[in-house]
Amino acid sequence: MLKSKLPFTEEHNLLRDTFRKFIEKEIKPYHEQWEKDGIVPRELWLKAGENGFLCPWVEEKYGGIGADFLYSVVMLEELTKAGASGFALPLHNDIVVQYIGAFANDEQKERWLPGCVSGEKISALAMTEPNAGSDVQSIKTTAVKDGDCYVLNGQKTFISNGLLADVVVVAAKTDPKADPPYSGISLIVVERGTPGFERGKKIHKIGMKAQDTAELFFDDCRVPANNLLGSEGAGFFMMMQKLQPERLVCAIGGLAAAEKCIELTVQYTKERQQFGRPIFSFQNTQFLLADLASEVAVGRAFLDRLIQDHMAGENVVTETCMAKLWICEMANRVADRCLQLHGGYGYCEEYPISKFWVDGRIQTIFAGTSEVMRLIIARSLGKE
Ligand SMILES: Cc1cc2nc3c(=O)[nH]c(=O)nc-3n(C[C@H](O)[C@H](O)[C@H](O)COP(=O)(O)OP(=O)(O)OC[C@H]3O[C@@H](n4cnc5c(N)ncnc54)[C@H](O)[C@@H]3O)c2cc1C
Repeated sequence: MLKSKLPFTEEHNLLRDTFRKFIEKEIKPYHEQWEKDGIVPRELWLKAGENGFLCPWVEEKYGGIGADFLYSVVMLEELTKAGASGFALPLHNDIVVQYIGAFANDEQKERWLPGCVSGEKISALAMTEPNAGSDVQSIKTTAVKDGDCYVLNGQKTFISNGLLADVVVVAAKTDPKADPPYSGISLIVVERGTPGFERGKKIHKIGMKAQDTAELFFDDCRVPANNLLGSEGAGFFMMMQKLQPERLVCAIGGLAAAEKCIELTVQYTKERQQFGRPIFSFQNTQFLLADLASEVAVGRAFLDRLIQDHMAGENVVTETCMAKLWICEMANRVADRCLQLHGGYGYCEEYPISKFWVDGRIQTIFAGTSEVMRLIIARSLGKE
């Protein structure tokens, strides 16, 4: 496997070691039960917070250590390779709380960030609605200003951490008649316990079963006006800005999963004997694994470069869409072919390859589908 050339330091290596131990002790023994429950316990979040694994990038004055993005890379890789798909730490650390870090004012940061670091405040991001998925700007949830509040009405679906979340960044129309429609979207933080904010049913998914995904409802839900992130009408631009790291996170997870699938399959095919010899010795097995390993290596080189560009503050929106598109599609291909090499055992839940196959399937759908990635990439063509 092509080794990552990312500039990991002793500190990152130490984090990898301690986080791996945390997964072994606090996650692996319980994950199967959490899959049955459809949710992870809040205590897991608190333990992760106690150990400094939540939002380490946050400034020291709000409880973090001002860590760099490689901390996120390390934890994302380790969670993925362990098959710990139920703990939505990357969503919290690298997607939702990033909105607060980037767009909240000082008073809001003081209110929310320390809890996000300690694990007392679990976060979620609510964009998708039953009739607004890929077409985010067609959302119907409204937030009408009334005195010192916004009154929210509408429904969200597919919200990760939907049941556990204490702070939800909600995309809503503060100006439903705005033209173009995206200019009427704002982001408002809705907190647990706000009257009129209800959780709907837990959505039963084919994979990532321990991660709670839920519907949310807002019925004359009065939210203090000072829960608005940034300015009114800027929501769509904020989402577009934060989709770069979100898609990068998907690509990092996809690549880590593909690497793990190959590792598992090389090991399995060297052990499994048929026709009196290991199935790894068949030329078909070797050629297939060689093809897949080559694809993963190409992905690794591209991803390493993108991560470094992202860390250098470069605008790599199109390249990130390319990485999400290609790496996540590739990861599904790899998981599928590796499952095939496991034969019937690959179809059994006790073999980890089956989990990679089913858990990874979402990667080409959320954070923008592969088709949406193609649309964005195509728009940039001819403009270099
Ligand atoms: C497990 C899970 C977790 C999720 N977590 C969250 C979350 O935390 N927060 C959140 O807001 N959302 C979340 N989502 C929602 C996710 O982002 C959407 O499912 C995704 O954006 C696609 O929207 P959709 O499901 O409505 O599909 P649709 O938009 O209806 O798309 C259906 C198909 O049509 C294609 N299509 C759509 N438009 C075009 C076009 N213009 N050209 C070509 N093809 C097109 C799509 O690519 C897709 O293949 C989650 C979803 C899942 C399943």
